[in-house]
Amino acid sequence: MVKEQLAKEQPIVYQTLAHALKTNKLAHAYLFHGPKGTGKLDCACLLAQSLVCAHRDSDGFACEQCEECMRIKNQSFADMRVLDGSQESIKKEEVLKLQQAFHKTGLEHTGKRVYIVNCAEHATPEALNSLLKFLEEPAEDMNAILLAEQLDRLLPTIISRCQPIRFRPLSREACFALAKTQLPCLDAYLLSGMVHNQKGMQDAYESEEYQHAFYLFQQFQGAFRQSPYDALAMLLKEGMDGKKRDGKQCMRYFLEMQMILYKDLIQGSTLCEDHGYQQMLQSYQGCGYPYGAWLEILLETRDKLWKSVNLTLLCDQMIALMKEVL
Ligand SMILES: [Zn+2]
Repeated sequence: MVKEQLAKEQPIVYQTLAHALKTNKLAHAYLFHGPKGTGKLDCACLLAQSLVCAHRDSDGFACEQCEECMRIKNQSFADMRVLDGSQESIKKEEVLKLQQAFHKTGLEHTGKRVYIVNCAEHATPEALNSLLKFLEEPAEDMNAILLAEQLDRLLPTIISRCQPIRFRPLSREACFALAKTQLPCLDAYLLSGMVHNQKGMQDAYESEEYQHAFYLFQQFQGAFRQSPYDALAMLLKEGMDGKKRDGKQCMRYFLEMQMILYKDLIQGSTLCEDHGYQQMLQSYQGCGYPYGAWLEILLETRDKLWKSVNLTLLCDQMIALMKEVL
C-alpha cells in the first residue's frame, strides 16, 4: 500500500501529512518537490483519497481500497482532475477548463474537490499565470497538489501560495535494505546504486533492458579475465543490438553496474554479501587496472548517452578510450 511505502521511504512527509489530516488542518495547496522517483505522484493520489475516503485509518490516511479510493486511483472520480506535464507541457486552456469545471459545486457526494498538477514546472508561463489566479482564490473544500522536481523553475509567487513539502532521495543503504527483501542480493545491490525508490527498483528489475544489461555485466567480467580486449569487443557485438529492447536504456544500466563495480574496487570494500560478486571483486584485485580512469570514461559515456544518436559509435569511442588508458 502507498501509505506503508510512504511511511518507510518518506517518514517526514508521512508525519507532516498525518498531522494535517488528523487535526483537519490541510493547506489549500501543497507543493510536493523532490527528485524523480521519490513517490510524489503516488503520495498526491493518497492525499486525494484521504480527502474523500470514509474509512480512514488512525493516522488520517485513506483505506486505499474502497470504491472512492479506487475511483481516485483510476482517475474516474468526477471531482478530481489531473493536469499532467510529464509528457507535454501544460497549456493555459487546460487550466481554464479546470477552473470552469471547478467553478460549480462538487459533483460527488463528498463535496471535496481536488486537482493535481504533475510536473508543474512543465507548464507554459501563461498556464502558470492562470494557475496562480486560481491558487489565489482558494475555495472551501478545494485542494490543490502541485508536483515539481525543480523548484527554481516555478514562479516564486506560485511557491509562496503553496505549502512546500520536500521529498528526499533515499540513501543507498536504505534502498539496498528495502530491495533485498524482494530481489536477489546482487540485483538489489546494483539497483540500489541506480534507482532510489522501491517501485523504481522493482520496475527496472522486471524490464528486459535491465535483465540484458545484467547478463552483459556478468559476461563482461568473465570475458575480461581472458582478455580485456575481447571483453570490450564482446560488449560491442552482444550489447547494443537493440532491435527489440531499448539499447540506450540497456547501455545505461550496464554502465551503471560497471561503475558500481569499479567504485567498489577503488574503495576496496563492498556492502554486497553476494558470494559471486565478492569473488568477482577478488579476481580483479591486484590486477592494477586503471579503475579510476575507466570510471571517468564510463561517466562521460553515460552523460553523452541521451545526447548521442549513434549508440554503436558512442560504444566504439568508449572502448577506444578504455584501451588507451590500459
Ligand atoms: Zn477508502
